[in-house]
Amino acid sequence: MTLKPTGAQREYLDELRSELLRAAYQRTQQLTSLSPAGLDEDPVQAAHRASVRRILDQVHEALDRMDAGTYGECVACGRLLALLDLRRRPWVDCCDTCARSSV
Ligand SMILES: [Zn+2]
Repeated sequence: MTLKPTGAQREYLDELRSELLRAAYQRTQQLTSLSPAGLDEDPVQAAHRASVRRILDQVHEALDRMDAGTYGECVACGRLLALLDLRRRPWVDCCDTCARSSV
């Protein structure tokens, strides 16, 4: 099942898309402001960079799913994601149940 955006739903998707684009921009800025990775890199900074990059990847994947029309579905089980979760982190790609079972 795919989301068929109509009316208010489309507006909501547009809103989430701008959220995603803003998140992508911020994360990209963050990555450039972190000093480049080196041999003597502080592990805390390395972890920070990795997590920023991971979110950036997820943001791009979410934008791809929007283009594909599958945005808002759990990539693992296909169930619709809670709007509240999408509002909080628009790049989430799986439901709580799947997120917990994949840990
Ligand atoms: Zn799921």
